Amino acid sequence: MTMPKIPLVAVLGSPIAHSKSPLLHGFWLDRLGMKGYYIPVDVTPADLEEVLRNMPKMGFVGANITLPHKERVLSLADRISDRASKIGAANTLSFEEGGKIYADNTDGIGFMENIRQNASNWIPQKGPAMLLGAGGASRAVVMSLLENDVPEIWITNRTKLRAEQFVTDFGARLKVIDWAHADQVLGDVTILINCTSLGMSGNPPLNIILDKLNRKTLVTDLVYNPLETPFLRAARDKGCDTIDGLGMLIHQAVAGFERWFGVKPEVDQEIRDVLLKK
Ligand code: NAP
Repeated sequence: MTMPKIPLVAVLGSPIAHSKSPLLHGFWLDRLGMKGYYIPVDVTPADLEEVLRNMPKMGFVGANITLPHKERVLSLADRISDRASKIGAANTLSFEEGGKIYADNTDGIGFMENIRQNASNWIPQKGPAMLLGAGGASRAVVMSLLENDVPEIWITNRTKLRAEQFVTDFGARLKVIDWAHADQVLGDVTILINCTSLGMSGNPPLNIILDKLNRKTLVTDLVYNPLETPFLRAARDKGCDTIDGLGMLIHQAVAGFERWFGVKPEVDQEIRDVLLKK
């Protein structure tokens, strides 16, 4: 009698020791009483291709991909989802028949599910969204806002050229706002999203004047360390509803877990507490 194989999944990056993903997936596997392993693997760019080609032979059914491999992995994939292709990066791989690599990006799903779970009264179609930052994570957020019919997306970035590239890549619903004058338009947006790395522990805070911010605007931060950034704190002090970035991290993992292990895990306070205790 042959025993069913135990599914293996890894997160590949370098450095990788800080990753919360093994704890997250390990907790879900335990809670659901499922067989499977999820491990961190430190992989250099030079070794990435060889590692990926060998993983399916070793029983791996998929992988998460993190810095510095999220863009490069697209060139190694056999099949790429539309959204990963548009974003230009992948964070979730599945190994298919013959070890073929399917690359997807679930960051945008994570962003939107976090909003849905914590601010069910926010209506995407109601008005403009504003993004601070035009890096890799911003691209995933923009994709999810477009897919959810947000009518206009205003984007501002220290390096203006990067924001202008978004208009080329994502179309006319995008509008670039000058970084120096970003605070002037805050009164007109339904959601304000920090997609810069400012405010993250070890980085300077995001110093944007919130005088014009409307109390009804939903404010969210992709940064989750600290959980409440100075930016979120200032928005909360203005009376705005705020959402931290930890939920996005957890929700982006749901799609991968379901694909690899076959069950959709719950996102609840317990999993947040587990990650925060680390
Ligand atoms: P990235 O590609 O390196 O982009 C960094 C962004 O921050 C750029 O817009 C950059 O502007 C801006 N920035 C950095 N230092 C700045 C400064 N001193 N002044 C003004 N702007 C500055 O990074 P990313 O992958 O998009 O990630 C951005 C943040 O989101 C990180 O903190 C990351 O941890 C977080 N994140 C969270 C999740 C989640 O699940 N919650 C998922 C993905 C990312 P320039 O273009 O001018 O350099």
